[in-house]
Amino acid sequence: MDARLEAIRDTVLARNPGEAEFHQAVTEVFESLGPVHDRHPEFLEGAVLERLCEPERQIIFRVPWVDDAGRFQINRGFRVEFNSALGPFKGGLRFHPSVNLGIVKFLGFEQIFKNALTGMPIGGGKGGSDFDPRGRSDAEIMRFCQSFMTELYRHIGEYTDVPAGDIGVGGREIGYLFGQYKRITNRYESGVLTGKGISWGGSLVRPEATGYGTVIFAEEMLKTRGRSFDGQRVVVSGSGNVAINAIAKAQSLGATVVACSDSSGYVVDEAGIDVALLRQIKEVERGRLKDYAARRPAVTYVDGGSVWDLDATVALPCATQNELDGGAAARLVRNGLLAVGEGANMPSTREAVAVFQDAGILFGPGKAANAGGVATSALEMQQNASRDSWSFAHTEERLTEIMVGIHDRCAATADEYGDPGNYVLGANIGGFVKVADAMLAQGLI
Ligand code: NDP
Repeated sequence: MDARLEAIRDTVLARNPGEAEFHQAVTEVFESLGPVHDRHPEFLEGAVLERLCEPERQIIFRVPWVDDAGRFQINRGFRVEFNSALGPFKGGLRFHPSVNLGIVKFLGFEQIFKNALTGMPIGGGKGGSDFDPRGRSDAEIMRFCQSFMTELYRHIGEYTDVPAGDIGVGGREIGYLFGQYKRITNRYESGVLTGKGISWGGSLVRPEATGYGTVIFAEEMLKTRGRSFDGQRVVVSGSGNVAINAIAKAQSLGATVVACSDSSGYVVDEAGIDVALLRQIKEVERGRLKDYAARRPAVTYVDGGSVWDLDATVALPCATQNELDGGAAARLVRNGLLAVGEGANMPSTREAVAVFQDAGILFGPGKAANAGGVATSALEMQQNASRDSWSFAHTEERLTEIMVGIHDRCAATADEYGDPGNYVLGANIGGFVKVADAMLAQGLI
């Protein structure tokens, strides 16, 4: 890392002790930014990096609620409003027991660059809670969401901060959150949340957008080597929103997705995952992957273990951060891997990224490859602002244009900075320069 940036990075780490994932995300971005500071000394003079690493506002709050047995439960809520140089803070809410301030800050930090890369007018933020939705009834989920919004409502708004979903937060949760926001504020402010239901201000393609976008990005990477998804053997981790839609898109392009996982285990389905059955089990019944194996002949269910023990030509990690380590990366590379598209945020450890890059694997980092979700959220905001709703075909066309644009911008930036094919460098520099220019133009804020 450039020595000037290393000194700033060390200060950031010392000022934010114990936030391992935030440290990792900052370090990974800083490693790309040395050459930019040679060309733009004004970024150092303007303390852009110091400002960028300090969120504009961080909110931590108590979320009290009552479970079905009448017991009082207390969770912790977070919203980190990281950077609004390009537009209102924008980023999802994650409900998972692992959520803490360091995780929300890593996600919010990544979101700044991702949102800049989309070319849409959105800043970066993220939030969530250590609430565990697994095994909770609909009524418990609703009471939790209502309590969460009872504090959050005062911090958000269509021109201020626009949350969406993430792990553990899908259409059902966005509905309960929106209902409570409307009830407290007495405003039908569609643009305050994205990922809404289609009949009440949502956008077609938003549920599919992150997974579809990841595959579109990976397809563009494959094209640079004269390849495509057609005929590829694909392994996907996760079986949530991003994973299911990545599987659907990859198979529509001629790939066979042979495996996917949840936090209990994984299924191997050599004939290709049956997306309709997977949706039924995961989205309708809210079941587990072992139910998928029970209903489909010739499918193996592996309890525990890692889906990255399987061979693949394309890997799409779509579950969570740091799920694919250096050892798994080396094994995949030895067994014929061509490309990785990160549907999740930071699923590959720094060691894994180094293995992929050293081996010349096409590697699409999450902040570029999974930007289709937030980009389509911005399209939802656009439809809300004009009180319009677009067709599936039109919205999908916009998503495709945006993803191809992000791919091309990352590739062109990597070329410009002398490291062709390095999408990590391209994404970090491409996103950073846009935000840094806007921050300088807006003065010391
Ligand atoms: P979902 O909650 O819909 O699905 C998450 C999936 O990942 C589930 O299969 C879950 O298994 C698995 N998973 C979660 N945590 C772990 C863990 N600690 N270990 C193993 N498996 C785990 O979330 P999404 O699909 O929305 O999000 C997946 C990833 O994509 C996240 O990194 C998110 O930040 C990122 N992302 C999401 C976007 C979106 O639009 N939704 C946009 C951009 C990025 P189980 O059910 O067993 O918990």
